[in-house]
Amino acid sequence: MDRIHIEKLEVFARHGVCREENSLGQKFLISADLFKDLHEAGKTDELTATVHYGKVCEFITKIASENTYKLIEKLAEEIANKVLIKFDVDRVKIRVDKPWAPMLLHVDTVFVEVERGWHTAYIAIGSNLGERENIIGDAISKIDSFQEIRVKAVSDIIETKPYGVTDQPDFLNGCIEIKTLLRPSELLAELLLIEASFGRERKVRWGPRTLDLDILFYDDQCILSKDLVVPHPDMMNRLFVLEPLNQIAPYFVHPVTGEPVYALLEKLKNKTPEGVSK
Ligand code: ATP
Ligand code: CA
Ligand code: CA
Repeated sequence: MDRIHIEKLEVFARHGVCREENSLGQKFLISADLFKDLHEAGKTDELTATVHYGKVCEFITKIASENTYKLIEKLAEEIANKVLIKFDVDRVKIRVDKPWAPMLLHVDTVFVEVERGWHTAYIAIGSNLGERENIIGDAISKIDSFQEIRVKAVSDIIETKPYGVTDQPDFLNGCIEIKTLLRPSELLAELLLIEASFGRERKVRWGPRTLDLDILFYDDQCILSKDLVVPHPDMMNRLFVLEPLNQIAPYFVHPVTGEPVYALLEKLKNKTPEGVSK
């Protein structure tokens, strides 16, 4: 991918584990790669079509000089995160050199380099207790209020019959597409907190709930752990997931089966008696 490269921006700052480093300070050299499609800027010659590297340099200088961290790992992480939030770039690589670190040995330089970017995830939302419609709307606003999450698309919210445990009120279900800087486990933790803030209780498996937020896909990653399985293992059996998901991501390819969402939906519809939103 195209990139804008900033090489060894000099910043005087006070990061370090030693107290002297925090009081006396030293020079750090910060390099950045900003990955972005530059075709438009190349064709139009317009500054608005690209990222203003002068502004990026000022922004990085401010972060590095106005904070004091023990580790350059932390500094690199903070710069990456904040640059991704503030500027219109998909991915960044940040390198922080500390060539004058106080050591009794000579090294040319020591650096830390991190690469971070926006990820695409799909989340299923369900509710069958309380003010279902308001809860879903408020939950989506809450998700969007995180600096590290942007809601990019929202499906229609549909009414469906309960799945698994059928003796409970009807559900409202929908799906959203998000961009996020959070890792899958961090995203799950935030979603569980949001569920709890809407009074979610877990008494019966598949029982009634004010709010359920499931991660369906996270990029094309396959995750199998005690607390998180992605893609969601039962999604291909659920019309109430595939129907709204198909509205916003028909061509998204399931990374395990290799089938696009529209094909998964077709397959399930052919298996399910008409009119039953299982
Ligand atoms: P189902 O996952 O079959 O739809 P459920 O949504 O009712 O059932 P919950 O009680 O909401 O299940 O979740 C139980 C646990 O499932 C969560 O605490 C979480 O750790 C785990 N989990 C595993 N994979 C996922 C995922 N993809 N999205 C959300 N939670 C998941
Ligand atoms: Ca669920
Ligand atoms: Ca869940």
